[in-house]
Amino acid sequence: MYPFKYVRATDLVSAEELLAGDEECVVLAGGMTLLPTMKQRLAQPSSLLDLSDLDEFKGITVTSSAVTIRAMTVHADVAESGEIAACLPALSNLAAEIGDPQVRNRGTIGGSVANADPAADYPAALLALDATVVTNHRSLPAEQFFIDMFETALEGNEIVQSVSFKIPRRAAYEKFPNPASRYAIAGVFIAEFDGAYRVAVTGVAGAAFRYSAVEEALQADPSVESLQQAMEDNPLDEDELNDDIHASAAYRADLTSVLAQRAFLRLDS
Ligand SMILES: Cc1cc2nc3c(=O)[nH]c(=O)nc-3n(C[C@H](O)[C@H](O)[C@H](O)COP(=O)(O)OP(=O)(O)OC[C@H]3O[C@@H](n4cnc5c(N)ncnc54)[C@H](O)[C@@H]3O)c2cc1C
Repeated sequence: MYPFKYVRATDLVSAEELLAGDEECVVLAGGMTLLPTMKQRLAQPSSLLDLSDLDEFKGITVTSSAVTIRAMTVHADVAESGEIAACLPALSNLAAEIGDPQVRNRGTIGGSVANADPAADYPAALLALDATVVTNHRSLPAEQFFIDMFETALEGNEIVQSVSFKIPRRAAYEKFPNPASRYAIAGVFIAEFDGAYRVAVTGVAGAAFRYSAVEEALQADPSVESLQQAMEDNPLDEDELNDDIHASAAYRADLTSVLAQRAFLRLDS
């Protein structure tokens, strides 16, 4: 490590001032990614702005149409929320499968979406559930928020405050986890909104994406055969897929098809 300042934010206004006054100051949430990155000197911020004392960044609100999770809510709280389990169990299940208990008890939804790891689980849920990311400056649809690998639309002094997910009629998430980290080698989230389907894939490319050919096929004919056919007719371009020591591009493409079928067959009602 190297010397840096550590500041606990006491309110949003002073947090914003600090970020605006020092472009090398970064927000600290659970520290699950940021601290190892600093230890490896891949990031060397001048100051860390810890949001953990700000009550407005914590908690879950459920209405008849949306689940809103504030940025500093840890994955374990999402996994254990009875309110989310009642209306959107696919989201509780997704959170329960993130990493291990230590990661789930420290890692936050704000840190996860701001980090935009290509193998993270939440981005698939944000895209499939037509989520909105609310920051201290604006509200952004998930599709405009995630740009590329570790790249989002967030600007220098922008802080994620919450994520709002629309509640679908049915949804399911299936992932094939890396056996060591539990990050998704591939993950598919399917949501159905009154006959319209949204299918989002994570883990296989630089950023999570929607599989629109499959969405259209399911809307026309909501069957696993139609899903399978749409995937055969519109295969993922392996040149665009991640290919690394964990899985080849061809394997990830095949996994995506298997996981999509499993997710469709598991859609909760
Ligand atoms: C061993 C291990 C296994 C994991 N397995 C999985 C997995 O299976 N699935 C999965 O999805 N994830 C996984 N993760 C990621 C983890 O769940 C966290 O979501 C992730 O590390 C970032 O969250 P954090 O709260 O720790 O953020 P931090 O590490 O504190 O911050 C990450 C980045 O986001 C920025 N940031 C944080 N909060 C905000 C905010 N509110 N506004 C703006 N910027 C912000 C920080 O400045 C930093 O750049 C794993 C992590 C580890 C270490």
